[in-house]
Amino acid sequence: MIVSARFGHYAVPLSAPVSDAKVATGRQRPLSHIDVLTCEVTTDDGLAGLGFSYTTRAGCRAQFAHAKEVASGLLGQDPSDIGRIYDKLLWAGASVGRSGVATQALAAIDVALWDLKARRAGLPLAKLLGAYRDSVRTYNTSGGYLQAPIEEVKERATRSLQDGIGGIKIKVGQPDTKEDLRRLTAVREHLGDDVPVMVDANQQWDRTTALRFGRAVEELGLVWIEEPLDAHDAEGHARLAAALDTPIATGEMLTSVAEHVRLIEARAADFVQPDVPRVGGITPYLKVAALADHAGLQVAPHFVMEIHVHLAAAYPRESWVEHIEWLSPLFDERLTIQDGRMLVPDRPGLGLSLAEHAKDWRLDEFESADG
Ligand SMILES: [Mg+2]
Repeated sequence: MIVSARFGHYAVPLSAPVSDAKVATGRQRPLSHIDVLTCEVTTDDGLAGLGFSYTTRAGCRAQFAHAKEVASGLLGQDPSDIGRIYDKLLWAGASVGRSGVATQALAAIDVALWDLKARRAGLPLAKLLGAYRDSVRTYNTSGGYLQAPIEEVKERATRSLQDGIGGIKIKVGQPDTKEDLRRLTAVREHLGDDVPVMVDANQQWDRTTALRFGRAVEELGLVWIEEPLDAHDAEGHARLAAALDTPIATGEMLTSVAEHVRLIEARAADFVQPDVPRVGGITPYLKVAALADHAGLQVAPHFVMEIHVHLAAAYPRESWVEHIEWLSPLFDERLTIQDGRMLVPDRPGLGLSLAEHAKDWRLDEFESADG
């Protein structure tokens, strides 16, 4: 039985601010930190589960406030009944809907409950879900942002490969497409033809620009072109996917199963990119994954490798997990990377514990407890 749920809001700083195409087009400011909502659920038999959600830029205070409002609904519940608990908390906040902040607040709780269930079983989450493999291919994103001069991007790509990472993604989507092409060509020449390379436009092209860019880079053999168009333009993505040999990847911005259904039904992506915290937790993520599998698609989850390494290992078709180390300082443990792959931790649950020094980044905390 659940006896307490403790929440924390942390602002985890990046070592240096990064900019993608949303910054290049003036829509957002450079990203300097990640806001994280943590949830620690404790039971009367002394077990605990740790979950988290996050935002880049605004929104985490709202997630924290929503979690605080619904948290008492957890007390006295059997933590194994994740579906029932999720439903109960969803109905508690039904007035603010079944997507976005409302379910992202629940994501921290949902992840904590899955972590607890796997810990209780003495299994890594991947094995609790049913794993297909003990490691997953991984590619680096954090070295390929737009504020970095191309020489730095090349150096960091080399370092990633030396560290055992298997692919390199770089950001594109700048107002000047020729500059994107110059950077991409430079990276491809630097790495040679055999290293898997992806590009990510972060939604900043229109349909014509995306198609022209896609045609111009067909011969580079990219693993995928990510978010060429607005995240909600399922039809545009579908046309692009049909017109190009290069696969299309999208889905990271979607915040509900319903939004993913539109994408999958429209055949808008070859690689669907759900994100556990953004889509409302592991419970809705598994529904997205089941639909994607049924449609014969690849799933390449977005960010939060600490959770996604487990889920990617438990998906039938092997794809890629995104290596971004931004949340690593929050935890005591590190993921092992070797031979282009990220190993599924053999520790029970997610295999994570909050680092002692994380309290320095804590902006707020709250505990809901019996008695
Ligand atoms: Mg992306």
